[in-house]
Amino acid sequence: EDLRGEADAVNRPRQVPGYCYSAVAPTPVRAPRLLAWSDELAAMLGLERPAGRGPGADLLAGNLVTPSMRPFAARYGGHQFGSWAGQLGDGRAISLGELEARDGSRWEIQLKGAGPTPYSRHADGRAVLRSSLREFLCSEAMHHLGVPTTRALSLVATGEDVIRDMFYTGDARPEPGAVVARVSPSFVRFGNFEIMAARDEHDNLRALAGHVLRRHYPELGEPSEAAYLALFEEVCRRTAVLMARWMTLGFVHGVMNTDNMSILGLTIDYGPYGWLEPYEPGWTPNTTDFGSRRYAFGQQPGVALWNLSKLAAALTPLVTGTDGLLAGLETYRSTYLRAYGEGMFRKLGLAPRDPEADEALLDGLHAAMEQSQVDMTLFFRGLSTAAPGLMPAEGSPEPAFRRLVAEASYLAPDAPEHAAMLDWLGTYLGRLRAEAARPEEIRDAMLAVNPKYVPRNYLAQEAIEAAEAGDLSRLEALMRVLRRPYDEQPEHAAMARKRPEWARTRPGCATLSCSS
Ligand code: AMP
Ligand code: MG
Ligand code: MG
Repeated sequence: EDLRGEADAVNRPRQVPGYCYSAVAPTPVRAPRLLAWSDELAAMLGLERPAGRGPGADLLAGNLVTPSMRPFAARYGGHQFGSWAGQLGDGRAISLGELEARDGSRWEIQLKGAGPTPYSRHADGRAVLRSSLREFLCSEAMHHLGVPTTRALSLVATGEDVIRDMFYTGDARPEPGAVVARVSPSFVRFGNFEIMAARDEHDNLRALAGHVLRRHYPELGEPSEAAYLALFEEVCRRTAVLMARWMTLGFVHGVMNTDNMSILGLTIDYGPYGWLEPYEPGWTPNTTDFGSRRYAFGQQPGVALWNLSKLAAALTPLVTGTDGLLAGLETYRSTYLRAYGEGMFRKLGLAPRDPEADEALLDGLHAAMEQSQVDMTLFFRGLSTAAPGLMPAEGSPEPAFRRLVAEASYLAPDAPEHAAMLDWLGTYLGRLRAEAARPEEIRDAMLAVNPKYVPRNYLAQEAIEAAEAGDLSRLEALMRVLRRPYDEQPEHAAMARKRPEWARTRPGCATLSCSS
């Protein structure tokens, strides 16, 4: 309400100078049908699961707009793959407005795939079921893993086909379309600020900063130069914490453009994301990024810093000099290093000791994980369960080490590449045995931070293929298990296995394109 919006916009793609958002209407679809629903999120919002067809599904597809809704698409820009891309904006996401949750907190409800907006550029405003299911699944999984993220309330089939070019093959095939209702306190991105700065719209820039401060960071005070700097520093801090979470869990976002960076430090815009299976810093699931690997796993903390520097540049019209903004970037650096180090030591069940030895231990671990090609999730989970058995100093630990490596590695159990890992495990055991805590305490603490279940790409792909064939049971089972990712759930152990060999090269199972 404190931002300039374009009233009653037509959907024709165009530049929208002077406005922060455009009032638009979703374009109705043929036959909305509810496919999936997040019970926990709904309970928090005080919503009841609607029937498969009917007004609820219509509303979640954009077919029904009630008088209390104020649908809009936001204007933003962004740096894509390192280059300024100009105006982007919500090209297929339409916010319906805000909903007050049971506890009084306010949540924006946004329909992704709800039809064209002024920001659709050359595209259709729609989303395919495959990518919508992946966003729905991973948003909720991330929440249960304890990672800051936007949420997803529902997945609705549109009953219409969507046509996507297959980037490499050049053919276009019709696929089922879908709409995800995303939920977040805010969907504001770095790019919302960047477009205002790039177009010299300083009043809009100030209004947006003021809006974000008042609505989402009230503790930082009324808008002022000091408050803008505090806001930037807090975004830096939260982004650092987020990167540490991604890096300790093995999550790869895949498209860390500045328009996909949340001003609240949330994971946002699930596209060709993935989870490290064999540990490999250079890995990305995004086939569109195979040339530069700009957004590969190991690049993410550095890319976040680069993206923050673009946000800093966009904020320069609001502050005097650059020292304050540079201090924010320094906060990012120090917070990331601390949060990542602490996170890794928690995963290892060790109390940090002296910085030099600790860093050497982590360096050794990274090199060993890469050489040994261990599955990031299975390795840490295996280490957690093995730890108490290893702590008493009797017998040779060698057989347990070998078992751990064999269970987590994608190489043969006796591969020579395991030498570094076996060696590292020896060093680790020395540290573990010197811990003051009891073995069972250490194990329980490790199990609470090393998940057993993550939404591996091949599991998501199996759920997608089943859903496309009309069977939602796989998605439902996956959602149920991923609600408690740190619990053993032995009856679902099949979802905590190494990626099978067939999935290594199959599209959607390890790698994906941006086409969604
Ligand atoms: P992404 O790579 O998904 O972050 O999207 C980048 C930009 O492209 C954003 O402005 C999106 O709104 C827009 N976009 C992506 N897919 C579509 C689509 N099918 N229709 C309209 N806009 C789209
Ligand atoms: Mg995006
Ligand atoms: Mg996307």
